Amino acid sequence: MRFHVLTIFPNLLDSPLKEGIIRRALQAGKIEVELINIRDFTTDKHAMTDDRPFGGGEGMVMKPEPLAAAIRKVRNEHIHSHVVLLSPQGRQYDQAVAKKYSRLEDLVLICGRYEGVDERIRRYFVDEEISIGDYILTGGELAAMIIIDSVTRLLPGVLGCEGSVEFDTFSRGGIKYPQYTRPRDFEGYEVPEILLSGDHAKIAEWRFAAGVRMTLEKRPDLLASLTFNKAELRVLKKYGVLLGKSGERRN
Ligand code: SAM
Repeated sequence: MRFHVLTIFPNLLDSPLKEGIIRRALQAGKIEVELINIRDFTTDKHAMTDDRPFGGGEGMVMKPEPLAAAIRKVRNEHIHSHVVLLSPQGRQYDQAVAKKYSRLEDLVLICGRYEGVDERIRRYFVDEEISIGDYILTGGELAAMIIIDSVTRLLPGVLGCEGSVEFDTFSRGGIKYPQYTRPRDFEGYEVPEILLSGDHAKIAEWRFAAGVRMTLEKRPDLLASLTFNKAELRVLKKYGVLLGKSGERRN
């Protein structure tokens, strides 16, 4: 999969791409990240990427010409590119969007700065406008990195253990079960006995029930998207995790 990041600060992504799983994915050729400096597409002698807003008002707005030229270049080279404008006004990014993006070949991420980009870019040059949350960043670069990171770990062969993606929080819609490692006794706090039993069927049941319980406690809003079959409902009852019709706990 190829990511193409349009930015005026390409160095901002340097370090996060050089560490951990993302670095390994790059080295193994699972992903490519092309950092495209929007300034390289300016034609004036001062290489200006922003200008004053028509109608007056605060700050500067990113000019459409260099952005359009950069987008056209990527689209010409990769005709199936999906072009995303990063913006606090867009659809909220979540695991379902990450999954959708993980099936693409070329994802173009446009990083705004200042007061944002000229509206004509959003209207006529992008496929989607995406926000990473209801807060305002100084620029889209960190948002782009969040998308690169979350999509990359979903790609086949990127994580050491493939199964871990399947059990992640949000994968089925709820929260992942609690996890423990050595020591067995940490300052008097014990690991749940069942995890030491070696009975994998029982452990799987316990984990399933514990995950649903944690969803009830931490993110009851997620319950609406969860469905359980009869066997799962039996397990939940066995572990005392009771679901109301509205998805709320009854006991
Ligand atoms: N004036 C704009 C507004 O009120 O909607 C905000 C511009 S923000 C300071 C500059 C750039 O940061 C945006 O163009 C966008 O690319 C990026 N950005 C800021 N917050 C973001 C968010 N929550 N999600 C994605 N990108 C964001």
